Amino acid sequence: MILLALLLAAAASAQTREVALTFDDLPSAGDVTPAEAEAINRAIVAELGKHRAPAVGFVNEKAGERIGTARWERILNGWLDAGLELGNHTFAHLDLNDLRPEEFERQVILGEAVFARLLAKRGAKPRYLRFPFNHIGGTEDSRKAAATFLASRGYEIAACTIDTSDYEFSRAYDAALAAKDAAAARIEREYLDYTAVQIAYYDKLNAQVLGRTAPHVMLLHANRLNAAVLARILEIFEARAFRFVALEKAQADPAYAIEVAANKFGPMWGYRWARTMRVKVNGAAEMEPSEWIRRYGRK
Ligand SMILES: [Zn+2]
Repeated sequence: MILLALLLAAAASAQTREVALTFDDLPSAGDVTPAEAEAINRAIVAELGKHRAPAVGFVNEKAGERIGTARWERILNGWLDAGLELGNHTFAHLDLNDLRPEEFERQVILGEAVFARLLAKRGAKPRYLRFPFNHIGGTEDSRKAAATFLASRGYEIAACTIDTSDYEFSRAYDAALAAKDAAAARIEREYLDYTAVQIAYYDKLNAQVLGRTAPHVMLLHANRLNAAVLARILEIFEARAFRFVALEKAQADPAYAIEVAANKFGPMWGYRWARTMRVKVNGAAEMEPSEWIRRYGRK
């Protein structure tokens, strides 16, 4: 009996997947009113709570400034009161590919304005930075300068391993809602189908590269679409026996200590690891969002 229980426990742990959730572009991506931005964050925080899912919200203080300090503080405190974390996504979401090191450093420091003050009140400090566009440095000089500066300021770089191109779907969704087009429901469905495909794709990619499973970090954005369908995204993970873990727990896995090279694009960490570890992977096998979605979002 004991042996059987041990075997079953071993089998379960071999199948258990872990994922840390991250939401970029707080207060909100897309063209939304301050009140909508607040509602989007409230919905995301509430849904995470229902599923007991830890998450980090990455903030753009310039966009926060624009919605007014009182509301911005309410949004940020909403995350912190729920036991969620906040991280730095730089002040104005500029592309590191276009910045000199001192300009990037300024963006990081300005990017702490309000959220670091709220953290300080709770005896905490900023500890994660997610690069805008996931651009970690297009040259080794730029990457190393940014990494050295961030480490000196107490930051850990937030990786990401699952991408759903949610900005493409979000753009289409916002356009459909603005036009009161019933296509919004179809966009939700396509987005969820694509999310399921991407989770499976990146899980396989990482297993191929690392030769084992490692905790995932999912890249999402604070936007209308994710606020509307987050329950169903979390259910996709739950149906596949994923456990929701804190970013700290995910990135404690040794995979996240593997050095990754400069890259002017923003690939997920599976591709970056593949390059460092000289594992051949076929990026062309990754499915793209449908042409319909891409076109709808641009019309
Ligand atoms: Zn962003």
